[in-house]
Formats: sequence, structure tokens, C-alpha cells
Amino acid sequence: MIEDIDRDVFVRIQTDLLVVGDSIMTDRHHASNGNYEDDDPQNQIGGIIPAFPLSGWLRHGLEVTVQEYGGTACHPGEANANFMKDSIYQRDLDAGYHEKGTCTDDPKEDDGCVVFDLFGGFDGVPGKVMRRPIKFNPVRSSVDYTRGQAEGHYRRLNRNIVSRNRDDNREALRNAAVDAVANLDGCWQLSFREMKPEFIGLLAEGVDFLDSHKTDFMHQLGGARNFGAGVVDCALINPLYEDHELKRVFDRRQGNTNKMDEKDDQWVDEYRPAFVNALEERIAEGP
Ligand SMILES: [Zn+2]
Repeated sequence: MIEDIDRDVFVRIQTDLLVVGDSIMTDRHHASNGNYEDDDPQNQIGGIIPAFPLSGWLRHGLEVTVQEYGGTACHPGEANANFMKDSIYQRDLDAGYHEKGTCTDDPKEDDGCVVFDLFGGFDGVPGKVMRRPIKFNPVRSSVDYTRGQAEGHYRRLNRNIVSRNRDDNREALRNAAVDAVANLDGCWQLSFREMKPEFIGLLAEGVDFLDSHKTDFMHQLGGARNFGAGVVDCALINPLYEDHELKRVFDRRQGNTNKMDEKDDQWVDEYRPAFVNALEERIAEGP
């Protein structure tokens, strides 16, 4: 069955507002033509959301899923790293993690736990899933969903930090500018270097977990979570879809074809349960 799944799998991501700590790369130098204004609502600026915050968000969702299935997850941090608070690492280990890499004696020979297998580890051992950045564009007709792109609107948010002292009459002390993407809707492309049924089982379960916990502080994406940013609707797009079907998901004028409905039934009734079953078996084998 797994041979029916393409090596590129797509997660639909929709959010009203995203602020990523690692910042957003924009192409405003192209769009500006010398007279760019940050706050002009007419500006047509696209850019790139780096993969790092996306990857951390996804990984956390997958780790919790492994724990919910009774396993322990690989800790993302090296055990010998110089953590500022040593006790926190130990506390994580007590809460459903094992030390990074202790699930494998030789990462080149043996794949370790499913999280290690996916995300990789030290010594140049790459994970089996490559997380790509998301390129976004405000013009929907320019968005190529089959390449993991999204419709999204870059905005620069300006905030005045004002004095709290009554005598100052809320005088501005400084101005803080934050890069944000508004009304994001698109695809996040995950490319598997090697495909295994348990990978897709874990991805399906983990993405559902993130979607149902999207308003939990822990499972929001990027920074500015106290301000309601990073509440993400997410869903694994049926991996059985062909490219033209994937595009149709984002075409508001058209609904599903009969063939897509058929594939949805196949996915729900046959493929997904088989892949989740493979995940359960892999977790039961131990880390
Ligand atoms: Zn591990």
C-alpha cells in the first residue's frame, strides 16, 4: 500500500495571523520599485516562511502522538548539551522522552525510534523527512500548491511601547516592528527520503492532534502566541491525490470530483488504518 503514496506529502495550513520568531524573508525589494511603504494595504509582497518554526511545531505534535500511543519520544536536544537548566532535561525524560539517540547504537546501521528516524540526529545522519519552507504570495493565481506554496499577505505590524508612568501621558518609549503573514492558506510540502507506512500513520495522527489542540498555547505556531497568532487549522491532504486534485482543494469555484471522493473513502477506510496500525507496531517494538 505504501508504494501508492508519493514521496511528497502535503499538509494544508490555514491561519489568520502568523508571526514567526525566526522572521519572514520577503521579496519587498523586488516589489517596492523604490517607493515601498510597509503599511500600504495595496502592497503585493510575498516571501518565505522558514521551515524551522514549522518543523518544531510539527515535531512537538508528533512527539505527543507517540506518547499517546504509549511510547517515549526522542528528546530534541542533545543530552550532553550545556542546558542552562539541567533539571529540565531530566524532567522531560520523566515526562515521556528518552535521551536523544539512545534508541540506536549506531545511527548509520539502525534507525532508532520513529521520531529519530524521521527527524534525524547527530553525525550527519539526516532525518527521513525533509521539511521545506513555505513560499507565500498574495496573488492566488501565482501560488503553486503542488510545490508547497501558500496564499498569504505580508504585513509589518508596528507597536508603540509606551511609558507606564502617569506623568508621561503614555509617551512612546520605542517602536517595535514585527513581521507577520496574514490570511495564510496553502500547502506545506514534506518530502520523504524514504517512505515507511508508520511515517504516514504518525503524520496523519500528529496533524490531527495539532488541529484539535490549535488553541493550546503549547501547540500554536511561531511567536506572539499570547496575541492569538499561530492558531493553525491543519489537515493532511489525502496523499492519494494527484497534482491536479491537490490544486482543486484550493479552488473555491470547484468541489471534489467523484474520483477524489472515491480516494477519500479509500484513504479513510483502508490506507489510514493500515498506516496507523504500522505505527502502533513500530511503537510497540520499543524505541
Ligand atoms: Zn529516539
